[in-house]
Amino acid sequence: MAEGVVRIKRGREKPIVKRHPWVFSGAIAHAEDAADGGLVTLVDHKNRFLARGYWNSKSQIQARIMSWRDEPIDEGWWRKMLARAIDSRAGLEAGADAYRLVNAENDFIPGLIVDRYADWLVLQALTRYIDQQKERIAELLRELTGIENVYERSDVDARTKEGLAPAVGALRGQFLAELVEISEGARFQVDIERGHKTGFYLDQRENRRTLAELVGDCLETADDDLTLLNMFCYTGGFAVSAGRYGRVRSINVDSSYAALELAEANFERNGYDSTKHGETAEFMQADAFDYLRHCVDEAMAFDVVVLDPPKFARHKGQTQRAARGYKDLNLSAFKVVKEGGYLMTFSCSGAISRDLFQKIVFSALADSGREGQILRRLSAAADHPVALTFPEGEYLKGLLLRVF
Ligand code: SAH
Repeated sequence: MAEGVVRIKRGREKPIVKRHPWVFSGAIAHAEDAADGGLVTLVDHKNRFLARGYWNSKSQIQARIMSWRDEPIDEGWWRKMLARAIDSRAGLEAGADAYRLVNAENDFIPGLIVDRYADWLVLQALTRYIDQQKERIAELLRELTGIENVYERSDVDARTKEGLAPAVGALRGQFLAELVEISEGARFQVDIERGHKTGFYLDQRENRRTLAELVGDCLETADDDLTLLNMFCYTGGFAVSAGRYGRVRSINVDSSYAALELAEANFERNGYDSTKHGETAEFMQADAFDYLRHCVDEAMAFDVVVLDPPKFARHKGQTQRAARGYKDLNLSAFKVVKEGGYLMTFSCSGAISRDLFQKIVFSALADSGREGQILRRLSAAADHPVALTFPEGEYLKGLLLRVF
């Protein structure tokens, strides 16, 4: 297929020159022979080469850039870029067998997510071009990683903006609809077929470790068991990780029954047993806002509260409403942390900046009448890098706070 040519309006080439990978319709003067899902060369108003990428007229982001060099996007390019992404994870996974291998724009391969879960790779194609390339990508991934099984989880909302229907199923290997077991110290059963994202919140791995270390430190001097309120627990990630030292009593709250069932199975899989290990866990199917209010009304108090809500703001227009949600949750959370206890609080809304999130948490703290200190600023694990040229890539932000 002939490659299309896309001419950028005079003066609108700046973000491209600065290597931002997205080109919106407003910046485009003219497109010639550009096919939806096909490769294009971007040129400035004097027809000088700017970049190479792919095209979809149906999307708001009409072009996504794959290279700023005048090079062909061929088999060699794919091999080079996938190998670079995969090789750069060496050492980052810290003994885990589940981690992100390709982080889309942040690995300079727009629209492609690849996660490893033990002997399965899970691929997410977010755009039309990537969707059309997925067979070739699956083959290269198998070759580069030696992992035979590739499962597709292209069932995200973003695809509708590309005019694409969801696509789910095995691309390579035989999928027997079983849970995949992964290990990152603690063991987790992952539902790659139906679980959130590609099955698990891999981005929180380092924060789970941070929590486990904190709990370990606290237990060294504590006479009593530690109490942990794990809000939005999904399949138990934070509390299971914190349980490795035993002597943690957790309440795990989520609105999803399926997630809670898996959370319970994950506690069992790690051999946590209240008689020997001292680990006890309760599982509550509830709305988190209601449950936290109930905790406040009952004057409950926990050593550690984890607050990891879903994305409240899908776009800038929802920022205010999302901010109210975060404030409400954090206000209740501050009220139920013991004197000298800890709050680990997150936002995964890209539309809420780190700065704004801190302001929201500050305002909740002020209303609660408590005092708080920032011990650590938290972000996604290092296998979820953020391209410096792509601030949109930084969605997960969190704070570890000490509360008095
Ligand atoms: N902390 C988890 C990930 C949380 S994802 C981990 O580390 O794995 C957000 C979770 O919030 C999802 O499991 C979703 O089912 C749950 N959820 C969404 N809205 C909720 C609500 N209003 N009340 C309780 N849980 C909710």
